[in-house]
Amino acid sequence: MRKPKIVIVGAGYGGLMTTVRLQKLIGVNEADIVLINKNDYHYETTWLHEASAGTLHHDRVRYDISDVIDKSKVDFIQDTVVEIKKEDKKVVLENGEVDYDYLVIALGGEPETFGIKGLKEYAFGITNVNSSRQLREHIEYQFATYNMEEEKDDTRLAIVVGGAGFTGIEFLGELTNRIPELCREYDVDSSKVKIICVEAAPTVLPGFDPELVNYAVSQLERKGVEFLIGTAIKEATPEGIIVAKGEEEPREIKANTVVWAAGVRGNSIIEKSGFEAMRGRVKVQPDLRVPGFDDVFIIGDSSLVINEEINRPYPPTAQIAMQQGEVVARNLAALIRNKSELETFTFDNKGTVCSLGHDDAIGVVFGKKITGSKASFMKKVVDNRSLYMIGGAGLVLKKGKFNVF
Ligand SMILES: Cc1cc2nc3c(=O)[nH]c(=O)nc-3n(C[C@H](O)[C@H](O)[C@H](O)COP(=O)(O)OP(=O)(O)OC[C@H]3O[C@@H](n4cnc5c(N)ncnc54)[C@H](O)[C@@H]3O)c2cc1C
Repeated sequence: MRKPKIVIVGAGYGGLMTTVRLQKLIGVNEADIVLINKNDYHYETTWLHEASAGTLHHDRVRYDISDVIDKSKVDFIQDTVVEIKKEDKKVVLENGEVDYDYLVIALGGEPETFGIKGLKEYAFGITNVNSSRQLREHIEYQFATYNMEEEKDDTRLAIVVGGAGFTGIEFLGELTNRIPELCREYDVDSSKVKIICVEAAPTVLPGFDPELVNYAVSQLERKGVEFLIGTAIKEATPEGIIVAKGEEEPREIKANTVVWAAGVRGNSIIEKSGFEAMRGRVKVQPDLRVPGFDDVFIIGDSSLVINEEINRPYPPTAQIAMQQGEVVARNLAALIRNKSELETFTFDNKGTVCSLGHDDAIGVVFGKKITGSKASFMKKVVDNRSLYMIGGAGLVLKKGKFNVF
């Protein structure tokens, strides 16, 4: 009898979790498993702000996919997905095509620019290893060049971060730790450096506990960040950005570095492949399959799951993607064993910790608010936990964070 073929696209948190759980759950003779990813490595997306600021080398945030998959059960293909032909059950790749019986789409998200002019062209993103390396090197180049020019251009030392959500705040935390090092390294007067965070919403970290938000803001302000809250970026230009607060006249902020960290949408492959989506995210069924397509699961940043308590979508997180991966692995095992009852996904929120550099953080863990070194310790526990869940103790020893005190 022909074995069913399970294809998983994307080896981020959701896709890799599905793969490693599935390879444990099913026997070699039960199904063929194929994992497809752009790179031959997985990167910890949740650590990219560190690589972007230069506080952690980019090689520390990635590891080889071959280190965690069981090659006797999983065929790995390094290629880029171009489109999914769901009616023909085919995945179109840059270098060929792969057909499937069951498909798991775990391609992550893309920056949402809300149509703001110039952002795609002139702003940096924190999206993958290469964008992080480019941002780090760009900032270093600005510091290195500042000193070499006879006529000093202070805009080289001005950095604008668009968005005071999770990614923006975590990046600012790392950046404010990195700036004193850069100033020492490149003989730059630290009073010349300007870091501005622009947020359109009326608060930093919308949805977070206000007491923790105040703590984060005062810590970052103490380290030199200027917050422009309730202020929208209207345009990004080669010289900086144009902002406006309410009815006020738009004004220009000159800066040679603009980082866009305000919003995620689903992977563009989703819309290109004709799935019904909201901002590229598909509202999946409780068993994580796509309505109308019983052979396709979507998880992670390209999926949309409603938090019934507040009737709003859960924000896309690694925590959700990994939990979805575990459920999808069990549901796939059930399907290939011809069981019709599939498990329903329920998000089990273990808490959230937002770092403010390697030595400070805020968070709510098991319902308790924490700040400072306690929260920072918890952040490293969370980071190491995701390594453990995918690659066990060996991966934690190889890539884990042990600078806990
Ligand atoms: C700086 C930062 C900090 C964050 N901090 C946290 C945090 O503290 N806690 C938390 O829970 N979440 C956090 N998040 C959010 C979290 O990282 C994402 O929600 C999570 O990575 C989503 O997982 P995923 O499996 O959907 O996608 P990803 O983990 O992004 O993986 C997608 C994979 O698909 C691959 N891929 C993409 N397109 C293609 C293609 N066309 N062909 C082949 N392969 C492709 C990519 O290379 C990647 O390997 C943070 C995000 C950022 C950017």
